[in-house]
Amino acid sequence: MMKVMKFGGTSVGSPEALRRAVGIITEGGGDKVVVVSAMSGVTNFLVSGAEGLPGNKEALLGEFEKKHLEAARMLLGEGQMEGFMADFRARMDGFRGLLDDEGARGCPYYKDNITSQGERFSSLILSYALRGAGARSVALTSEDCGICAEGRPLSGSANLQRTESMMAMKVRPYVADGVIPVITGFYGVTADGLPLTFGRGGSDYSAAVVANAMNADVLEIWTDVDGFMSADPRIVPDAVKIDEMNFGEAAELAYFGAKVLHPRTIEPVRMKHIPLKVRNSFKPEEPGTLIRHLREPRGDMLMSVALKTDLSVIAISSAEIAFHPNMVARIIGKIAEGEVVIYSVSTSLSTVAFLVHSNDVKSILSRLNTLDPGDIERIEVKGEVALVCAVGDNLISRCGVSADIFAAVKEARASVQMISEGASDVSLNFAVPMSKAVDVVKLLHSKYVRGSADEGIRQ
Ligand code: ADP
Ligand code: ASP
Ligand code: MG
Repeated sequence: MMKVMKFGGTSVGSPEALRRAVGIITEGGGDKVVVVSAMSGVTNFLVSGAEGLPGNKEALLGEFEKKHLEAARMLLGEGQMEGFMADFRARMDGFRGLLDDEGARGCPYYKDNITSQGERFSSLILSYALRGAGARSVALTSEDCGICAEGRPLSGSANLQRTESMMAMKVRPYVADGVIPVITGFYGVTADGLPLTFGRGGSDYSAAVVANAMNADVLEIWTDVDGFMSADPRIVPDAVKIDEMNFGEAAELAYFGAKVLHPRTIEPVRMKHIPLKVRNSFKPEEPGTLIRHLREPRGDMLMSVALKTDLSVIAISSAEIAFHPNMVARIIGKIAEGEVVIYSVSTSLSTVAFLVHSNDVKSILSRLNTLDPGDIERIEVKGEVALVCAVGDNLISRCGVSADIFAAVKEARASVQMISEGASDVSLNFAVPMSKAVDVVKLLHSKYVRGSADEGIRQ
């Protein structure tokens, strides 16, 4: 039995949290591989620190070092500090060398390199803490493991096949020998040996990639909530924990905004039939959520509602665009050149509309401007839009579901900007103004999710 266990930022964010993680990892037998995020707050600190370089170099290194050393001193025994400090210094020298290297600043992956530093230190501290508790452990970076990445800076993808063969050579021998590897999440390494991050929150994806490569029996994502919930508990305080979901449901919700899992976490485990559990590192006695191929049917209309904010609708109009499929293809081609994600598409006779992240609008418009001006009559952009994703059983085949959902939207006095229904049989997605989005989510939740506070009107 082999488990891959991933600990998020808050689950390794303090000496107490690290101690709890050690308890969870060392409980029970079997082979274990651990993947860690940076300590909470560290990646944000590095992201903003990278903007102020080189002027803030010493301050950045100083604060970064202090945070990790304080945690290590509180956690590790006297006898461990000498060995730890040697490893710690070697990693700090690597970080300083990166910031001193003016040539590196021009590298497209420079920010990936800086923002992935946190994981190198959290993994080191956790591995030493495991040794302090009597386990055998080794801290491994993504470079050490051969986690292979490709793609654009700050949004890489793993090459699963290459990663599997590298990890067979570089990680399996440790596991076979009873050693627990503690691996850096968040980034892989390009063919040129440069760190490439998987997007914010990417350690979940790293853990799924590791589970895939190691052919694990289960992937456990240890986080700061009881499991995958019926809504973001920060928006809906009475959100309830979901006991079981299937891969498709979890993937749709993660893609459309449920931050508890990075949007790409599901595929590497789904393709190898590896069940995934989401568990609370602050309450290890709770069973969490089990995500797998099939689940038991449920009685309620909605299982969970997710929200993706900061989106924009780009509507492109031209006479009878619907009768010119080549033109639609050219427009999509231009948008896709920038590898942007299109969250929804909708067409009418003379307009084709795309829902995209607001950060991508500028670059999309500049690419659309390179189209033949005769092709396009008008481009309109509507910003400040959010996408609501409602997931439940047979949403498409059940009669009256849309009517019920849009009745709640009306009650929230929100106007629907775009609808996507039928593309997936587990979810119904629609865009509303950002100012109304939270009200819509709260109303949908109280009306149609079982176990939520407003028992009277649920289905
Ligand atoms: P970690 O650092 O462990 O990766 P994250 O902050 O990335 O943790 O993800 C956990 C957070 O995701 C929760 O604290 C919660 O606010 C948020 N979240 C959003 N949607 C959901 C959901 N449907 N279920 C659970 N948590 C959610
Ligand atoms: N530390 C990274 C981030 O904050 C990756 C992660 O936590 O999953 O985005
Ligand atoms: Mg996360």
